[in-house]
Amino acid sequence: MEDCKVIRPRSVEEALAALSAVTGALPIAGGTDLLVKMKDGHVRPRALVAVDHLPELRVIEVRDGMLWIGGGATHAQLMASSLVKEHAPLLAAACATVGAPQIRNRGTIAGNVVTSSPAGDTIPALIALDAEVYMRRNGGQRRMPVERFFVGPGRTKLAAEELVAGFAVPLRTEAGPERRWAYRKLGQRKAMSIAIVDVAVRLDVVNGRIAAARVVLGSVAPTVRRAAELEKALIGPVPDDARLRELAPLAREAARPISDVRASAEYRLNMVEAVTYQALYVALHREELESRGQRVQALEPVADDTGECCRRAGAASAAATAAGHAHTAYAPGAAPGCGRRELTAPEGTGEGECDGAGEGRTIRVRITFHSQLGDHAPGSQAELTLLGGATLGQLHEHLGLAGDTYIVALVNGKREFDDRVLRDGDGIDLLRPVGGG
Ligand SMILES: Cc1cc2nc3c(=O)[nH]c(=O)nc-3n(C[C@H](O)[C@H](O)[C@H](O)COP(=O)(O)OP(=O)(O)OC[C@H]3O[C@@H](n4cnc5c(N)ncnc54)[C@H](O)[C@@H]3O)c2cc1C
Repeated sequence: MEDCKVIRPRSVEEALAALSAVTGALPIAGGTDLLVKMKDGHVRPRALVAVDHLPELRVIEVRDGMLWIGGGATHAQLMASSLVKEHAPLLAAACATVGAPQIRNRGTIAGNVVTSSPAGDTIPALIALDAEVYMRRNGGQRRMPVERFFVGPGRTKLAAEELVAGFAVPLRTEAGPERRWAYRKLGQRKAMSIAIVDVAVRLDVVNGRIAAARVVLGSVAPTVRRAAELEKALIGPVPDDARLRELAPLAREAARPISDVRASAEYRLNMVEAVTYQALYVALHREELESRGQRVQALEPVADDTGECCRRAGAASAAATAAGHAHTAYAPGAAPGCGRRELTAPEGTGEGECDGAGEGRTIRVRITFHSQLGDHAPGSQAELTLLGGATLGQLHEHLGLAGDTYIVALVNGKREFDDRVLRDGDGIDLLRPVGGG
């Protein structure tokens, strides 16, 4: 890092001249990816060409009938732009899930795309919007669909002497198709969370039929990729919920996940189906969800006075206690300062137990709550006694989660829906994505 000189050009032209003159020079914008890699010794540029202060790269405007987004636009700038909100709300929603305010104020869209991480949040949104990337070099310019820009993790088609000048996104027009969209991201917690799976959906609806579909998956393959089979199957009449459930598993076809520090490949495969279902559901029912007061934009933590790391278990306990249910809830090995928390109520009295399609006997199920937890904390757990015949939907009601579109349930590792009848010993995972829109 010591031998690396920093060049501060006064214009894009000067930046391009410096990139072609110095072999081994790299552009640097917010530095939120590059400086981390340099510190870890993964990248050793001979020089850094700073581009973060160049106004030309930060322009967001309508240009030649397209929405133009300069490569140096920050995530915060994109979230605040009225043009982006009007023509590419999907992109604004994706930017809103990047890191935290400090990162969103420094990090740029070109930096996110050039880093070429399969978990780069803006990439699925740009591909879903059919965006093109514009690259400039000394005396020349070229462009290509963002979808074709990536070669592998950390590798793109950008040449050493080129800069990403910006992105062009087709405009939304009154006369055009009705545009449905959603971005959902599953992470380990609500902020500062790299995606375990993320999904961007764009559906163009004409006269009650889906005329064009984009379903773009992040973090489940070496590069972000489209779920081509699913996109094809979506063309036709707008699907009802039963049909969406049939279609969502097609997202698995496109996934080639690996196991890493954040999740196993198997978990990602289950989740890509679940998060895709959610994204499609939100895209198709956005107005209805919003009119019912559901949280479509951002997911708020469950209010609880037990402290950050215990809040999911606390919520379950509170709900169960209020209903007089027999339960034990605890947050094993949670973050420092939290400690083990046990709440018990008289067991086996049957009083107030989940009165679903009771068969006169009780069953015991174990629930694990995921996401929105402190760093590296395992999922909070709760054990519940229910009357035999209770369904997953009744369990959701019991926990005060009914109607929450963002809860994804796995029973014994398999994605299930409200009508699934629960059995003794079932292990239930309840997941709630980080957010999106
Ligand atoms: C704590 C933390 C949390 C994070 N959370 C997330 C997250 O939730 N989601 C997510 O997607 N990312 C996340 N990131 C990664 C990072 O913040 C984003 O990828 C960000 O958008 C990178 O932009 P930058 O301007 O900082 O890029 P830089 O670090 O400046 O550059 C990154 C790469 O892009 C190149 N580059 C930059 N600008 C240009 C240009 N105009 N033309 C050509 N090449 C260029 C650089 O040479 C470098 O190779 C996080 C990073 C940190 C440190």
